[in-house]
Amino acid sequence: MQPLLPGDLEHIGADMYGLIARLYPICRSITGEGFRSTMRILQEFIPLAINEVPSGTKVFDWTVPKEWNIRDAYVKNLRGERVVSFNESNLHVVNYSTPVKARLSRDELQRHLFSIPEHPKWIPYRTSYYKESWGFCVSHEVLESLNEPEYEVCIDSSLANGSLTYGEYLVPGKTDREVLISCHSCHPSLCNDNLSGIALSVFLARCLNQTRPRYSYRFLFVPGTIGSITWLALNEQHASRIAHGLVVACVGDPGQMNYKQSRRGNAEIDRVVEHVLKHSGKPYKISRFVPYGYDERQYCSPGFNLPVGSLTRTPNGQYPEYHTSADNLEFVRPEHIVDSFKTYLEIVEALEANGIYYNLNPKCEPQLGRRGIYGSVGGGERGHGFEMALLWVLNLADGHASTLDIAEKAEMPFHTIAEATEILLKHRLLEMREDEAG
Ligand code: ZN
Repeated sequence: MQPLLPGDLEHIGADMYGLIARLYPICRSITGEGFRSTMRILQEFIPLAINEVPSGTKVFDWTVPKEWNIRDAYVKNLRGERVVSFNESNLHVVNYSTPVKARLSRDELQRHLFSIPEHPKWIPYRTSYYKESWGFCVSHEVLESLNEPEYEVCIDSSLANGSLTYGEYLVPGKTDREVLISCHSCHPSLCNDNLSGIALSVFLARCLNQTRPRYSYRFLFVPGTIGSITWLALNEQHASRIAHGLVVACVGDPGQMNYKQSRRGNAEIDRVVEHVLKHSGKPYKISRFVPYGYDERQYCSPGFNLPVGSLTRTPNGQYPEYHTSADNLEFVRPEHIVDSFKTYLEIVEALEANGIYYNLNPKCEPQLGRRGIYGSVGGGERGHGFEMALLWVLNLADGHASTLDIAEKAEMPFHTIAEATEILLKHRLLEMREDEAG
């Protein structure tokens, strides 16, 4: 496979950020027009299939809910002035609110208001997907300013039979073993969680579809929880093809990279991500699997137990801006998304190149100088480190150790060992024992 890393990373950072900015104003939810129009915008970048699953469809222990759509919402004082308006921020309405039009006392209204007293200027993000109710989310400052006796409330929404929408795109590889890249795409105006994940996945898909990878890559843009459950229910037979997977979220904030292992904890994806982060030269954190978080909860449920981890920057719930209006276009920055993107590319490159090789000249070292291998690597241009990589590969390629095993034993970056492997293959000193992905 040709190298994935596109030359102009700054440009790609600006493009990913541009996509985030374009999707930011749309009021998405787990179903409805906001999600659908988001998928249509993604189709301008990748030939994504948009799938619709009817409300009422049984998906394991769950049921695809009614479709929610919203046109407008407000709280007005009795002078007719909007004191809370959906037009200003779609976070103002509790996502999935049932329709309402009423005149209420201040006390009655208060029971339907949510705010964050510790951050009095921020609007919280609340949902009520599986319990029919309605509400408004407001800054604490606004909540405290509501001191008139009565207000008029209106939520012009609908909750009716329709469908659940999700986006799916497969980059075909040389084998049908798959790498799953999944991101929840159901949040309204929130940038890190998870417009950053959507943008990174779209641009990763664009890079991959310009190559012919070893694995096939399946990209899923699903509503959180119900979307991955629906996909798994409709594709149960297919799930065993998933050889590795990552749930992408929260990849645009300034925090360090954070990898949450798959339920297995020692899957190839767990080892590859850990290796790449270890050699990144930057701080990072590895966490064990816990049955809480994003859609890895479903992929890693015991009936599937897929090797799917989650690679984020600061994880869900661990930054104050999480699920508030402060998770905005200032909070995510192009340079952080690009840094996450590069990490994902390195992981993909390592998955692609990781294989088991056999030294065809195992009795004593082959004479590398005679073959011009030392010379061909530039007489010190790559230096002693690269010679060591060649020697490590020759010594450990006994048909049992993978490229990753060798990189770990040699304590060298994966790409150095992969490069040494390439050169030895060219000189017919190695052969691939079997294509594990085959
Ligand atoms: Zn979230």
